[in-house]
Amino acid sequence: MTSHHVDLIKEFLGNRSMSESSKGRKFHNILKASLGQAQGILSRLLPFGVHAFVSAISYGSGICLLQLLGASLRISCANRLLGPCLGAIGVGAASALSGHMSRHAKRQMNEQKNLWQALLSPFWSDIDIQELLLDAFSGIMIFKLYGGSFRRLLPSNLKAAGAHARTCVPVSAGDHANDSQKGLLISIYQRDGCHHCGSKRGIVIGDHIPPTKLVNEVKAQHKAVEASLKHIPDLLRQVFVSKESQCIKQDYYAQCQSCSQAQASLMRHGRRSALVLHKVWLQPPGFTPGILVGLRQCCEDMRTIHTSTGPRSAGNASSSKGQKREGEGRHRRGIWGWTTPIVEEQQPGVDVYCSFEAKGLPATTASNSVEVTVLN
Ligand SMILES: [Zn+2]
Repeated sequence: MTSHHVDLIKEFLGNRSMSESSKGRKFHNILKASLGQAQGILSRLLPFGVHAFVSAISYGSGICLLQLLGASLRISCANRLLGPCLGAIGVGAASALSGHMSRHAKRQMNEQKNLWQALLSPFWSDIDIQELLLDAFSGIMIFKLYGGSFRRLLPSNLKAAGAHARTCVPVSAGDHANDSQKGLLISIYQRDGCHHCGSKRGIVIGDHIPPTKLVNEVKAQHKAVEASLKHIPDLLRQVFVSKESQCIKQDYYAQCQSCSQAQASLMRHGRRSALVLHKVWLQPPGFTPGILVGLRQCCEDMRTIHTSTGPRSAGNASSSKGQKREGEGRHRRGIWGWTTPIVEEQQPGVDVYCSFEAKGLPATTASNSVEVTVLN
């Protein structure tokens, strides 16, 4: 409902000279016009919603598959070399998938298939390699523009800081966090969730990273090396055993109880995998790259419609038969490329074709048909 309709309703309510029956008719007309306008706006926004939904689901599926691939290849977010490489490839593939599914959905709608027919239609039958490459490149650029981190799309490693780790609290003296450190960890947990899995449920635990057991193992190794070198001069011993390597700095990260138990099991028994799957869709920028890549189809439709309607608005009321415009035939291509059936009796300005035979004209000319535009 626009401001015009609000003004009409105000005028209607303030007009006391009008009879009750005429008031009722006028109110009905205003309401009908408002509903028709709202329906028109919704029908134009619906393709945006469909494109956004399909592309978001496709992109989300793509990055979830990427995480599973990383787990199967034993590549975690803690891998500073392979993690970003695999993450960038995964974002490109997920973006290409979202763009293709958005195009596929549009084609199904243009063919006026119902939901089941659209779902059963093989989506791999209309793959366009050039469009896929463009979608992949666009998705990677959007992902980085929004500050995304490729390696954070891969599984977390229980032996290192997880994919959701953004802030930590330095470990002070003692084995346990003090009250101020606990307060900081709770606020971090409520904001970012568990640094390994992203969960925000349950109690928060201050996780030592690197784990204390690994730190103790490294210190024990250094002591053993130092003991084996005790007979050589101090100068040479300092070269082989640096003091910095013995002072490993630990930080507290907010962790959930489930990940803490899994980490403890790994450290004590070493029987489980060190990789943990997490809520990858919570990682910034979320579904944004997939949605924007999918909405590119809408922008292309808008550009196409603008280009195709431009010459007509410049007074090109009639055209030759060979210049058939888009929209001729049984269906008219609507905005965003969706088709709607045309009822010719109700369409102002539709093109009517008729043929005539002119006296004295050659047969080839007389058989030609001309287009007449009916102006209502
Ligand atoms: Zn967790």
